[in-house]
Amino acid sequence: MTDQRERPTSSRRAFLSASAAAAATPVLGAGRANAAGRGPRRQAPDRELKAMLREIDPHRIGTTVARLAAFGTRHTLSAQDNPVRGIGAARDWIFERLSAYAAESGGRMTVELQSFVQPPAPRIPVPTRITNVVATLRGDAEPGRVYVVTGHYDSRATDVMDATSDAPGADDDASGVAVIMELARVMATRHTEATIVFAAVAGEEQGLYGSDHLAQQFRDAGADVQAMFSNDIVGTGDAHDGTAADPRTVRLFVEGVPTAETAAEANVRRSVGGENDGPSRQLGRFVRDVAENPQTGMKVRVVWRRDRYLRGSDHISFLLRGYPAARFTEPRENFAHEHQDVRVENGIQYGDLVEYCDFAYIARVARVNGAVLWSLAQAPGTPTGVVIDTTQLTNATTLRWQPGTAADLAGYEVVWRETTAPDWTNAMAVGNVTTVTIDLSKDNVFFGVRALDRSGHRSPVAAPRPSS
Ligand SMILES: [Zn+2]
Repeated sequence: MTDQRERPTSSRRAFLSASAAAAATPVLGAGRANAAGRGPRRQAPDRELKAMLREIDPHRIGTTVARLAAFGTRHTLSAQDNPVRGIGAARDWIFERLSAYAAESGGRMTVELQSFVQPPAPRIPVPTRITNVVATLRGDAEPGRVYVVTGHYDSRATDVMDATSDAPGADDDASGVAVIMELARVMATRHTEATIVFAAVAGEEQGLYGSDHLAQQFRDAGADVQAMFSNDIVGTGDAHDGTAADPRTVRLFVEGVPTAETAAEANVRRSVGGENDGPSRQLGRFVRDVAENPQTGMKVRVVWRRDRYLRGSDHISFLLRGYPAARFTEPRENFAHEHQDVRVENGIQYGDLVEYCDFAYIARVARVNGAVLWSLAQAPGTPTGVVIDTTQLTNATTLRWQPGTAADLAGYEVVWRETTAPDWTNAMAVGNVTTVTIDLSKDNVFFGVRALDRSGHRSPVAAPRPSS
């Protein structure tokens, strides 16, 4: 969005008449509903992102999935000191690979074993060491602004307490670990403005213990985690169940009402709505905006739920702490290939085997994640302190926000949509200001604000809170 014709000049305050702006801007689409402001367009990948996405290698991803499956089991309660079988061997291999990638980063990527002893708890019968393998690519410009992507490297058999039977966990979730490892590899050599954390977490199948620890570490440090994505069961677009394959779709589960919503926030929502405008929903819109393009070759099927029925994943650990988060997963699951002992029964093959994974599919999911993380890290951060003025009754709308700190900040866009529309239908550049008045009633539409940099990268949208 580089058209700046309606940008105000030096003033930090702007008054924009939507109808006047329409006369000065091209109108996308034929409908009169778009007459006020421009219809939003997708954000195309920049040149460096295109190059990075081309480097994502399905063969290397296949090698990673097969190597992880070859540890026999990666159950959280399995051997930690056996060099060839069990979760300890998997942990050490992931650490060794990520460290090799970090060696190419000029010191910007560091890898740590983030370890803790989980006391006895549901599905943890004895004190158990749980270790996340965490690679951190420090941002050049705003290292305190953080984006997190995870896959879980633990696996399970039919009995969730069975730490010895084979549990190859190829799809669940060597596929997700392969995504974060391949992203760490291709991003380690590149400079990002914000920090990206690539984490292989453990303890997921026992109850999200590893990601719970990771999220709490960020919370305790007061970290500014602006988005988190779990990649869990991203192995194939073919369920191998007789239904048609859907190899160019990945689902993204995003919650509506925030898990960590406060009582005061709930009161506002009951009064004026906003159940579709929490920070995770805005992240879902952002993902489609930056990741549905020819370079990823994927459609993102956003599902407005925290997760599937009866299931959860590591994004919930972040949602619980108030961080925006979402979960990628394949379009249709085959439950004979998840959480099952490897066996043949009545002619049906059970078990989470490498042969049911499609490495080209996993590579496309990695490209979706890569487009999202790159676009987040290169854009300004999500605007903060966004309020809608509610001090008086008026048919215009005044929005205010805190000035952003990005060195290459170009300004802001106000977006809006009908209250019944799922996604933004209108966007208006308002310049580098921190307050704007728009000649549209706040009672009739939902508004949001996003930041732009000089290269055209857009931040996720922040929804305003009432000022009073
Ligand atoms: Zn899983």
